[in-house]
Amino acid sequence: MTPRASNNPNFYVDAMLGKIAKKLRLFGFDTMYKTGISDELLVEQALLQNRILVTKDKNLYQRLKRSKILVVLPLRNDEAGILIELLRCCKIRHIDLLPNSYTRCPICNGLLKTINKIRVINEIPHNVFGRIDAAYRCSSCMKVYWNGTHISCINAIIMEINTHLY
Ligand SMILES: [Zn+2]
Repeated sequence: MTPRASNNPNFYVDAMLGKIAKKLRLFGFDTMYKTGISDELLVEQALLQNRILVTKDKNLYQRLKRSKILVVLPLRNDEAGILIELLRCCKIRHIDLLPNSYTRCPICNGLLKTINKIRVINEIPHNVFGRIDAAYRCSSCMKVYWNGTHISCINAIIMEINTHLY
């Protein structure tokens, strides 16, 4: 179902779009996001790392439009709207529901690995532990995740987004 094996863009998201960066990571896109870096450094890193730059900064967009860097300026302001614009721009036709095999850590962009929940029993709230099948650990920052209500909310957003991709 996923076209991402052949179309797997990496993103560099500007400091104004932190929530978008987290969603892209959860969806499974390798996404850089740093606050407090200059436009020059942002552009340099995006270019060096072959990432699509996502910005809400019209001046920066105008400046880069004719450069070598791929830059997207989402016009909408709502989260789902921005994601739909961006994914359509990149010709992504479908996002797999979470957790999918590409899902990354929303905090640090590390890859998540499925682990037996018994191994992280102390890191999962007692009332949640019995209800979940598996847990996931970020291979980079070691944070533990599981299928909770938060994931259901994001999956509802993904289903909404998928109806607008083609
Ligand atoms: Zn992490």
